[in-house]
Amino acid sequence: MLRILVLGSAAGGGFPQWNCNCENCRRVRAGDAAALARTQSSVGVSADGEHWFLMNASPDVRQQIERTLSLHPRGEPRHSPIAGAVLTNADVDHVAGLLTLREGQPLSVYATGRVHQVLSANSIFNVLDAERVARLALPIEQDVELQLPGGRSAGIAVTAFPVPGKVALWLEDVSACPGLGTEAEDTVGLKVANAATGRAFFYVPGCAAMPADLAQRLTGASLVFFDGTTWTDDEMRAAGVGAKTGRRMGHMSMSGPDGSIAAFAGLGVRRRVFIHINNTNPVLLRDSPERRQAEAAGWEIAEDGLEIVL
Ligand SMILES: [Zn+2]
Repeated sequence: MLRILVLGSAAGGGFPQWNCNCENCRRVRAGDAAALARTQSSVGVSADGEHWFLMNASPDVRQQIERTLSLHPRGEPRHSPIAGAVLTNADVDHVAGLLTLREGQPLSVYATGRVHQVLSANSIFNVLDAERVARLALPIEQDVELQLPGGRSAGIAVTAFPVPGKVALWLEDVSACPGLGTEAEDTVGLKVANAATGRAFFYVPGCAAMPADLAQRLTGASLVFFDGTTWTDDEMRAAGVGAKTGRRMGHMSMSGPDGSIAAFAGLGVRRRVFIHINNTNPVLLRDSPERRQAEAAGWEIAEDGLEIVL
């Protein structure tokens, strides 16, 4: 068994975003039933229903824990079912939640060497007591069996693989603009499996393109959570909320001939779920034509609280 809990389904900023007054965000604030609020993306995974690993640590993790019964402390005065986190890159919306998890709880934090370097170079993360919070390696293309603090296996095996992306926005070196400073370990996707049964899903919240090797890797999967940041590449500009395109931010769009819906069309993935959805994306609205189009193509649009058992 593998239990998967969608703790947050929105991209950085959440839905609504604090300073955004686009039509989508306005409709959430107006209490429109077709526009459901979402926190910033993260999923919890457990093989035993007792110990949980977070796939990325969202800035909204505190709120996500409080509304999720499985993540509440039990028994002892200080306790958490959260055993650690696995990071896919160093984006603020994927690592800032670590700062919330600082109150002396033993944790195992897995990331690529590149992402660990970024955390080490930012001394604020030293608030995570090195005696209790282990920073563990997540080498590319190797099965890693996640360890509970103390060393026992969590029964979950994770394989990180490089995906087209870009370095976190706040690490960009504009002088090195052509490749946006991207290195192979800047952004990874994860294959997450029950170590005993091998049942697995893929978690790919950021991906800029679908090269042939990635398509082949995902072919025939039971479940894929995939980057759902934008519907069209220029939607942020069109909504008047920013100049950056989705591609510039390292995300492929859902629609169009180069989009993710088209890229997945022949892959035979049983369950396809968009996650990391930007607040400007029209699929967030239950009554939008784009939502109907995505669903007609076999996609689900993740909502906070969605639970899947594999
Ligand atoms: Zn908005």
